[in-house]
Amino acid sequence: MSEAAAPTPAAARPAVDTHCPYCALQCGMALRPAAGSGSGSGSGSGGSSGGAVPVEVVERPAFPVNRGALCGKGANAAALLAPGARLTVPLVRPRRGAPLEPATWDEALDRVAAGLSRTAEAHGRDAVGVFGGGGLTNEKAYLLGKFARVVLRTATVDYNGRFCMSSAAAAQNRAFGLDRGLPFPLEDIPRTGCLVLVGGNPAETMPPFVRYLRELRENGGRLVVVDPRRTRTAGLADLHLAPRPGTDLALALGLLHLVVAEGRTDEAFVAERTTGWPEARAAAMAHWPELVESVTGVPVPQLRETVRLFCDAEASMVLTARGPEQQSKGTDTVSAWINLCLATGRAGRPHSGYGCLTGQGNGQGGREHGQKADQLPGYRRLDDPAARAHVAAVWGVDPESLPGPGRSAYELLDSLGRDVRALLVAGSNPVVSAPHAAHVAERLAALDLLAVSDVVLSETAALADVVLPVAQWAEETGTMTTLEGRVVLRRRAVDPPPGVRSDLEVLHGLAARLGHGEGFPVEPEKAFDELRRASAGGPADYAGIGYGRIAAEDGVFWPCPSADHPGTPRLFLDRFATPDGRARFAAVQHRPAAEEPDAEYPLRLTTGRVLAQYQSGAQTRRVAALAAAAPGPFVELHPRLAERLGIGEGAPVAVVSRRGRAVAPARLTDAIRPDTVFMPFHWPGAGRANTVTNPALDPVSRMPEFKVCAVRLEPAGG
Ligand code: SF4
Repeated sequence: MSEAAAPTPAAARPAVDTHCPYCALQCGMALRPAAGSGSGSGSGSGGSSGGAVPVEVVERPAFPVNRGALCGKGANAAALLAPGARLTVPLVRPRRGAPLEPATWDEALDRVAAGLSRTAEAHGRDAVGVFGGGGLTNEKAYLLGKFARVVLRTATVDYNGRFCMSSAAAAQNRAFGLDRGLPFPLEDIPRTGCLVLVGGNPAETMPPFVRYLRELRENGGRLVVVDPRRTRTAGLADLHLAPRPGTDLALALGLLHLVVAEGRTDEAFVAERTTGWPEARAAAMAHWPELVESVTGVPVPQLRETVRLFCDAEASMVLTARGPEQQSKGTDTVSAWINLCLATGRAGRPHSGYGCLTGQGNGQGGREHGQKADQLPGYRRLDDPAARAHVAAVWGVDPESLPGPGRSAYELLDSLGRDVRALLVAGSNPVVSAPHAAHVAERLAALDLLAVSDVVLSETAALADVVLPVAQWAEETGTMTTLEGRVVLRRRAVDPPPGVRSDLEVLHGLAARLGHGEGFPVEPEKAFDELRRASAGGPADYAGIGYGRIAAEDGVFWPCPSADHPGTPRLFLDRFATPDGRARFAAVQHRPAAEEPDAEYPLRLTTGRVLAQYQSGAQTRRVAALAAAAPGPFVELHPRLAERLGIGEGAPVAVVSRRGRAVAPARLTDAIRPDTVFMPFHWPGAGRANTVTNPALDPVSRMPEFKVCAVRLEPAGG
């Protein structure tokens, strides 16, 4: 179209239904060619970071989860589709210390394949690692895991979803025999009588979710929010509990103690549908209210009021998020909240239950289909002989050839440059998002080969020997599984720029160079159909979920074992997924954080997200509107603490832990406990919060303790 041509009317520009590239709510949206046919006004895009934006985001009100509502991240998502905002050519570092240089795809893939082969020959197969991401589509996650197990035959594979919801997953598997973030659809939330939301701030992380909280209140339901900060979400609550970071386990045990003491146990439910109550009850009875108040800082009357609200309602729910989960006792903490639900009969019943608010876009599907260190597709266990036989048959390999379980994400990153010598990273930016991040960056730099496939030159890609520029959400088709367990279809709406390939093409190209010309389809639907076969009969059974059906039904809930199965929006109503059908209590005890405050480090640091940024910020920091709304990190602290330390509003302050220091401007607010400081973790450089955080791991889930470590504050000069 010439410059003089009038813009094409919106109605003449058909929109493509798809989903947001960011969080696990996977809001429905539509993408319409931008006015001006590619010269792109970018209207609705919030401005790009370079070049014309080819599409604009428009509402998709028919999608039931968000009914057209989007947060700023979703509304501005199209900006990253501008050619200037992203990578469009492979980059290769000719030698250590030299800058990255443009290369052909053959040069880049040859270099990666040769490096992976050479490393395996010299140091053994497990010296080659793969690190995936919770934002990858199901198809990519599936083929990445297959690539690790079949082509590389390495046990060294895990993904950044380990840092997201692994503690909740471990606790749900322990209690229910199955992990699906929410075992009920979001539409059940407004129908419950009381919701206890622990350590989540959806008003900032996923604002369209707040509709469900508002409807709950409008229906007469009560909302209790547990968070050391009075967040926007806490501002919506009937009751806000503000425990010290790292004490959520004591809090849950104290509530269970009161349930027992006040005779609010549902004895019939416990007898008919659970096991392990005597031991769990005994553990809870050691956590009397005054003790719990002294540990958590939550006054006894608030504990009693929480129990009253929770038990007076006919139906109640507990939702946890990263606050209680990202702890070195995250699994036990979630188990304690599940225990509360089980003891009161608030699980496996309509409009009641426990759920986890998954964070990453495909945090759910990403953990189901084989990129996790201990799992095979369909949420099968890698150490289960029957599971190995089933998946090996789909893959056409000998079960004996499949490696065993490998090390978890942080352990994998910690081993780089030592026994793991080469790493392929797909869709992850651990230089910003991993705990003890400076150490992780050192380990990445010590590798013989680091290859990163990403859309942008993330901080991790900037360290790489080879960077592979790949297509992103709107440029390719694929499925995602939302926090509800709803499998949705992201449709391709625009062509990727010349020079960009899909992750499936990258895996195909590498596999072919490593002797596997077959088995790595580049067509997403073919990959998904193979995933369906691999998942068939497993806990996360996708066999009955096809692309056409997802499109026709606005998503399908797993398990869905056959084409005529309706899908499963609600789990556990008849029985839990344990061998005997009963839910299992876990007898858990409170224990301190791995690092408690002391004279040298007298404060607790907790970390989290802000409204306008997403995870490591690799994408959202490049979107002009979001960068303007949230331009950099900050240190949130109470005015009394600030006064004591002589720190003024906006003054640079250093947060110092045993691992390093992060410097950012002070932000004073009485919405945080005076013994706690908060930093968002989206930024690299001097203000990188994860320089400070503690990589102490949960013994079951191997989740690092992002949410609490001991720090001190220092004025950082002018
Ligand atoms: Fe995207 Fe999540 Fe925002 Fe929805 S809530 S628009 S999925 S970032």
